[in-house]
Amino acid sequence: MKTQDAIPAATSAGEPARLVIDLAALRHNYSVLAELAAGARCAAVVKADAYGLDADRIATCLRDAGCRDFFTATPEEGAAVRRALGPSVTVYVLNGYQPGTYALHARHGLTPVIGSLESLQAFHDEGSGAFALHVDTGMNRLGLNVGEALALPAAHKAGLHLVMSHLACSDLPDHPMNARQLERFHDVLKAFPGIPASLANTGGVLLGPDYHFDLVRPGVGLYGVNPASERAEPFRPVLHVDAPILQVRTVPPGETIGYGARYVAQSERTVAIAGFGYADGLPRAAWQSGTARLDGHPVPVAGMVSMDLTALDITGHEALARASGRVQFYGEDLGPVAGASGTIGYELLVRLGSRLKREYRGQ
Ligand SMILES: *Cc1c(COP(=O)(O)O)cnc(C)c1O
Repeated sequence: MKTQDAIPAATSAGEPARLVIDLAALRHNYSVLAELAAGARCAAVVKADAYGLDADRIATCLRDAGCRDFFTATPEEGAAVRRALGPSVTVYVLNGYQPGTYALHARHGLTPVIGSLESLQAFHDEGSGAFALHVDTGMNRLGLNVGEALALPAAHKAGLHLVMSHLACSDLPDHPMNARQLERFHDVLKAFPGIPASLANTGGVLLGPDYHFDLVRPGVGLYGVNPASERAEPFRPVLHVDAPILQVRTVPPGETIGYGARYVAQSERTVAIAGFGYADGLPRAAWQSGTARLDGHPVPVAGMVSMDLTALDITGHEALARASGRVQFYGEDLGPVAGASGTIGYELLVRLGSRLKREYRGQ
């Protein structure tokens, strides 16, 4: 079996895997979403460190692109966004209001999204101020139920800035759940005349104007994932991983590649070993039909993904591999790799490992 080190021409060739984030694509996606929902304000969901891409950098870029409403999951995330953006924006906390956290919310100017009668009572007992109300229309996760919302006493609506609900099936445009939740949401809104309303995440924006109301709350679409498709359109991919080729080797027919000897070479193959593995977030399950790119050419994963390494079948592209010394993961392949791994683009984003050096382009 021959082996050879990849002797790269490019100066970055030896560097560890980098996560490259294209802020111009992020701004593009924000304007696509804002235009699709032209009658509504377009917020940005930046929970979970902006889906793994760094909430500070992402929120700052979106603020500069005109976004004024940001959704986080926890007060800690909200405080970080407030520190990054200063006082000119609204920062919502989606995970509800926990009794005893009034001072924390007040200190950072956070708007809790309150989702139960108990926490609404606690909020009013502990202070006053702006809040959003989450009403459950079918997800059965967070939120007052429809009956509770309709019966809410006027005193409890003081400070109410937004009534919202969340769609369970917006990634499946034909699912009857969408229309059912829309109808329930219209019922709820009868009890809240004049209060701004919000229903749509990214999938909801794509469902059309009936779902947009006064404010839309896209997350994943900003980051280049179309929740209803493996392809990014109408969004642009925002991230890709640029990984070094650590070694190129020739594998004779009948030899196997990787743990478990699961991949058997049917003919002589040239294999590039990339420095990117499941510790960096690439699912082990991607070995079945995942792909990477070598200078734009798709190259399939060959054998089980290891913790720090992934073998790629680059047969026919040996010269390219030697010239660039790098391969790209995700990018336009994010959706297909997620599908091949039995998961969704969202999960690949938030699983991006901390070892990857973040590099921001398109400032
Ligand atoms: C995460 C989340 C969003 C954003 O959803 P995407 O599908 O990423 O656009 C919007 N609203 C709520 C309540 C959420 O939890």
